[in-house]
Amino acid sequence: MFESLGKKLQDILDNVRQQGRLTEAQVKAAMREIRMALLEADVNFNVAKDFVARVSEKAVGQDVLTSLNAGQQVVKIVHDELIETLGGSAQQPQLKTENNVWFMVGLQGAGKTTSTGKLAAHYKGKGRRVLLVAADTQRPAAREQLKVLGNQVGVPVLEVQDNEPPHVTQQRVKEYLQKDFRDLVIVDTAGRLQIDENLMDQLADLKTALNPTETLLVVDAMTGQEALNVAETFDKRVNLSGLIITKMDGDARGGAALSARFVTGKPIYFAGVSEKITGLEPFYPDRVASRILG
Ligand code: GDP
Repeated sequence: MFESLGKKLQDILDNVRQQGRLTEAQVKAAMREIRMALLEADVNFNVAKDFVARVSEKAVGQDVLTSLNAGQQVVKIVHDELIETLGGSAQQPQLKTENNVWFMVGLQGAGKTTSTGKLAAHYKGKGRRVLLVAADTQRPAAREQLKVLGNQVGVPVLEVQDNEPPHVTQQRVKEYLQKDFRDLVIVDTAGRLQIDENLMDQLADLKTALNPTETLLVVDAMTGQEALNVAETFDKRVNLSGLIITKMDGDARGGAALSARFVTGKPIYFAGVSEKITGLEPFYPDRVASRILG
């Protein structure tokens, strides 16, 4: 991912870097090229516009242009603003000593169940006692998939029954926790191929019953701008606390990952980087920016 965008930005910035003093016109020309490269990588229009405006303001406004290493300073401004666009400092989901309930939501195929398994492995590795809840009341196959992952990771999986009402699920989780102490409960919810009102109602009801401490949306980087529409719709209905972006190992142009934080206002907690159970990494804006800019 980011290969084509990275190459274009690096070429533009290599040119800028070599300049001692810079004129405002030169900065403007470079910013036009950067804006174009971002849009070609499927970055959201407003994100690209805002990014270029912020860089221009800093470059032109702070006596940068007349300094002897103006080019280098502008390159640093681009780097810093890219980190800002990606969310600034890395953020993690809130994790108390106990009573953590995380609600996983997303469209079918985004990688929700896989990411739930990956989170279980990640936090088990940190000494957490994880319980997975397979909460798709309509697709036994989805529950089966989570049971396989739970087995692989070595964490228990509580399976809902077909058409089980949310208050029953809540009661069953509570009873389970009374018998077997678990400090992190991760609930894999139902997904559909598209946004579906019925699904949103179900998710909202289950969320009310389980009262999660985090509501994490899993989105597929390969779906580009559509990922942002999905995020906005889910946020309206179930109020998201953060994002997990999957398939960052694929050949997506990168626009969704670059725009998600700015457009949704939600932090990106993790990136999915392979199909394997270990293929989940905390999302570090500075590392991603360095990867893009070389
Ligand atoms: P769900 O319907 O949202 O639960 O999606 P699944 O968890 O079943 O994942 C759908 C497909 O995406 C599966 O083939 C996963 O192996 C694959 N997948 C999930 N996350 C990643 C990732 O980060 N990288 C890659 N390459 N594949 C992924």
